[in-house]
Amino acid sequence: KKRNPNESEFHQAVKEIFDSLVPVFAKHPKYMDNGILERISEPERIITFRVPWVDDQGKVRVNRGFRVQFNSNIGPYKGGLRFHPSVNASIIKFLGFEQILKNSLTGLPIGGGKGGSDFDPKGKSDGEVMRFTQSFMMELSQHIGPDIDVPAGDIGVGAREIGYMFGQYKKMRGSFEAGVLTGKGLGYGGSLTRTEATGYGTVYFVEEMLKDKGLGFDGSTVVVSGSGNVSIYAIDKANQLGAKVVACSDSGGYVYDPNGINLATVKRIKEVERGRISEYILEHPHAQYHAGCEGIWSIPCDIALPCATQNELDSMAAQLLIANGVKAIGEGANMPSTLEAIDVFLENNVLFGPAKAANAGGVAVSALEMAQNSMRLSWTFEEVDAKLQQIMTNIYQNSMKAAEEYGHPGNLVVGANIAGFIKVADAMMTQGVI
Ligand code: NDP
Repeated sequence: KKRNPNESEFHQAVKEIFDSLVPVFAKHPKYMDNGILERISEPERIITFRVPWVDDQGKVRVNRGFRVQFNSNIGPYKGGLRFHPSVNASIIKFLGFEQILKNSLTGLPIGGGKGGSDFDPKGKSDGEVMRFTQSFMMELSQHIGPDIDVPAGDIGVGAREIGYMFGQYKKMRGSFEAGVLTGKGLGYGGSLTRTEATGYGTVYFVEEMLKDKGLGFDGSTVVVSGSGNVSIYAIDKANQLGAKVVACSDSGGYVYDPNGINLATVKRIKEVERGRISEYILEHPHAQYHAGCEGIWSIPCDIALPCATQNELDSMAAQLLIANGVKAIGEGANMPSTLEAIDVFLENNVLFGPAKAANAGGVAVSALEMAQNSMRLSWTFEEVDAKLQQIMTNIYQNSMKAAEEYGHPGNLVVGANIAGFIKVADAMMTQGVI
């Protein structure tokens, strides 16, 4: 805390991981002797830069850009870009730190990084978003590349923003390097299933947790927070598996639809019109809209999938969910549960799928997009989806195995942290003190 003052989100992420690693250090003091903890929690590089742009009124605006290149021992830095007014060094560092172990868990050769800006895309015209992203990429392009650092989307960065950034990078480099960004459009190097991957992967992961207990999505009631990329495809897959999703949200509030959320309406409002979830009830007047998003956890459900943002689910919400009979939690967002909420779930034996395992499907398919770009070919939707399912199953099994081996059977928080850590730590050991 002394070394990184005022970075509460980063402290939270580091504490969760370091607490999990206690049994690893007891068994293998070599990691301690080689300063792995000190090195892994210090980014290899942090780039902060000015992003000037001109709005539709001709006024000059200035935002701040970030890229944290956290760890490159098992592959090029890989992690999304977030455009949201709350973005600061602490948020980007927590996301980048989580990304190291998450990427390791996928079994694919990708290091950890993250970036973004405090730019708020809400209410901006397409022209403003384009001018901002071009200015952002003018600087970022000097630090990334298909074998160096490969950004992707995150909150506020979807197909539109990736398209503008790819165009600007291509123009500045004078060469078509498809592998420099993932989440690209299908016509210029994107991968089928990337759009769906994080939401689908979260549901595949939770299905594995449930299967071990003789349970499943079929016939269950589900609550999904958020209504962005991860939420929409989590709802989609949960529906396909026979569940009824009764609620979703945005930063303004949440919608409860006892008949089951109509996904076509959510997709139209969010993906096409870029509107607010409150508009849902105009088309479905029997549903209820409540201002403020925290109340979503008071809705009784069997499975809760927090898919919006960090710290959206606290210990009070966890207790409410448990009182209402929740059986499983799958974190689609990054660090959506507070440390206290996680303790409540674990103490009450609720099945808990932590973010770095449950939402790793997005970055896994990004790595598959890089592989396809390198080979200059495209796999079918079914091929990528099958690989995604296999990766999620492997992550579940490897995390369960590590939890068992290190004395915390069934604890996926500990298991995922250990399984992800050991591969990176071993690579750091063999590559010397760098
Ligand atoms: P989107 O921008 O597509 O959607 C974000 C959703 O969360 C929106 O509904 C948004 O509401 C809501 N939200 C954002 N900030 C807040 C807030 N402070 N309070 C309440 N609600 C909020 O982002 P994604 O779906 O891509 O990302 C969601 C989460 O999943 C993030 O934690 C991200 O890091 C994580 N993630 C994403 C991956 C991906 O592939 N996209 C991969 C792995 C993790 P509003 O529209 O009102 O802002």
